[in-house]
Amino acid sequence: MITSEFEHHRPPDIAGALLILIEHGDDARVLAGGHSLIPMMKLRMADVPHLIDLQDIVGLKGIAIEDGAIVFGAMTTQHELINNEALFRAAPIIQEAALQIADPQVRYMGTIGGNVANGDPGNDMPGLMQCLDATFTLEGPNGTRDVKARDFYESAYMTEREDDEIMTRITFAATRAGYAYEKQKRKIGDYAIAACAVLITTEGGTVASASISMTNLSDVPVFSEAANAALVGTSCDAAAVKAAVAAALEDIDPTEDNRGPVEFKMHIAVIIISRAIARAWTRA
Ligand code: FAD
Repeated sequence: MITSEFEHHRPPDIAGALLILIEHGDDARVLAGGHSLIPMMKLRMADVPHLIDLQDIVGLKGIAIEDGAIVFGAMTTQHELINNEALFRAAPIIQEAALQIADPQVRYMGTIGGNVANGDPGNDMPGLMQCLDATFTLEGPNGTRDVKARDFYESAYMTEREDDEIMTRITFAATRAGYAYEKQKRKIGDYAIAACAVLITTEGGTVASASISMTNLSDVPVFSEAANAALVGTSCDAAAVKAAVAAALEDIDPTEDNRGPVEFKMHIAVIIISRAIARAWTRA
């Protein structure tokens, strides 16, 4: 199917983009890589008379790593995240997760900002950003504000972002913690049946800190404080992993869809969370 008719705007800066967004209100949406929005428009699940393309806004691109802080411009593509050597050294979990998104064609176009702003429970980056305790910066008519990734998601496609705000950057601390991004999907290029991001630091042979988040196991990404607590202070032995997995399962609420019934998803969750913890622990 083809989309309904729309006007394509290509402002040179954020101020220009905000003006168009405010002028057209509900009839306008920003366009980043277009690999979530355009398919929705083609399926006629979204009708957007005014598309505000962010491609020309130079300040929205790029990866900066300084004094232990990593900053992504919202328009940085998944391909750029995967191929940045300095980023791999500063936070290797990004590459491991981004390589599991879709296929190279989608990753050439899809942006980190579009992936996290979209609010699709199937997107991989929101859960990862919760695991990394990232902060999202939003710019709107009333200025700029920061929202923690862990506070951003309300329900499927509903986020803390107001309709007249544009996400400009994503910030988090560099980490050399043991890491793993584990994803179960039906085939290459598909969204997750379930995915799990884990970061573990150690001290004296035991877990000093743990950060566990999950994707597509609820209508929002889930960061599990209880699962983290179950690992801290342990040597990540089988009993500790079992306790962490049990705690994580308490926090999720999967629904039946074309990827399987609830029982199947709970079963997959046990496997991917256990694997992610094991790999992160080994690397830690
Ligand atoms: P767009 O499609 O341009 O925008 C998405 C939404 O976010 C729109 O509502 C738009 O208005 C809003 N938006 C975009 N940028 C901003 C901004 N800066 N500020 C405010 N709002 C903004 N994703 C995964 O995570 N995992 C997968 O396995 C996966 N598989 C895919 C398979 C296929 C075949 C396809 C087509 C896509 C897949 N995707 C997957 C989605 C892909 O990663 C998208 O590119 C991504 O989710 C959205 O990024 P985008 O830049 O394309 O955003």
